[in-house]
Amino acid sequence: MSVTRLPIRADLRGVHPYGAPQLDVPVLLNVNENPYPPSPAVVADIADAVAAAATGLNRYPDRDFPALRADLAAYLGAESGATGLTVDHLWAANGSNEVMLHLLQAFGGPGRTALSFAPTYSMYPEYARDTFTGWVTGRRESDFTLDLPHVRAMIAEHRPCVIFLASPNNPTGTALPIDVVEAIAGAARGAGPGGADAVVVVDEAYAEFRRTGTPSALTILPRHPHLAVSRTMSKAFALAGARVGYLAAAPDLVDALRVVRLPYHLSAVTQAVARAALRHSGSLLARVAELRDERDATVAWLRGHGLEVPGSDANFALFGTFDDRHEVWQGLLDRGVLIRATGPDGWLRVSIGTPGEMVAFRAALEEVLGW
Ligand SMILES: *Cc1c(COP(=O)(O)O)cnc(C)c1O
Repeated sequence: MSVTRLPIRADLRGVHPYGAPQLDVPVLLNVNENPYPPSPAVVADIADAVAAAATGLNRYPDRDFPALRADLAAYLGAESGATGLTVDHLWAANGSNEVMLHLLQAFGGPGRTALSFAPTYSMYPEYARDTFTGWVTGRRESDFTLDLPHVRAMIAEHRPCVIFLASPNNPTGTALPIDVVEAIAGAARGAGPGGADAVVVVDEAYAEFRRTGTPSALTILPRHPHLAVSRTMSKAFALAGARVGYLAAAPDLVDALRVVRLPYHLSAVTQAVARAALRHSGSLLARVAELRDERDATVAWLRGHGLEVPGSDANFALFGTFDDRHEVWQGLLDRGVLIRATGPDGWLRVSIGTPGEMVAFRAALEEVLGW
């Protein structure tokens, strides 16, 4: 047997692929999926759209997918109240993970630094690594808010090319007040490499779950040519398996992303699936309203038992703190409920499932904690 000596990059040697454990248990509340599969009407429309797309699969898809971008612009305008969004303001890729990779391919690179504030989404440092972009994290306060003087100091010190702000944040569920986003966008002006504006990315993967009165950063987009708001169809649209993420920003910013995308990165099948699902946004968002209510009830129930839960604008709740969170996580798993041990030590995160799944979660937690 010959010894393998692949020229693996020094910084990737011994590194394991990212991923939450995928275990086969009855109640899956670990990766913030939408628990409701697409309805029969949505499935039928997707199947028809895929069949139509299949008749043209000998050809490469539309590289710039204007029809999908127009549909996404219309959806975002209706969902957030943002005005003036057009095809040229929209971009899409295979999940918002790929959208964020495009951002760092276009604006990051060797000698540059991306900045975020922890605890936050654990994928950001991987996009930085994969694009040879430096990675720096500032801190969130103990209630997971951002301290503006600290943010300003970090921007001034590191002159980042890109600043990632997840809002609602994963894993804390907390949304940033819009005036904080606006202040950071202001601080980013001229504060990037060589005096360029740092690109401020507001990752709104969970935006549709936000509570009434929490505005989307889309509403301030027209004032900020260096702001990008990313969204996904993975969560609210119950379409995690389709891999569709997208972004809204000024047309010049979108044009920079078009340079780095692989040719034909968004398949004709993906485009057809996304457009079919968008035609059903009304019924899909009705389900989101149910999940929001279930989220609020879960937060209230956990707090009612004396646990700490940051206010959640997402489809999950972070709760704690526990001296040994692994023991609690394992106890739930032993009772058929898989949640996620993530975030700062002592905290656990539960995704919001169906009412039945949440009954199972509450019963299991009562047993584990001896309530
Ligand atoms: C789930 C999630 C995403 C979505 O990723 P996709 O690639 O679109 O599935 C993006 N950002 C955050 C913070 C998430 O939690």
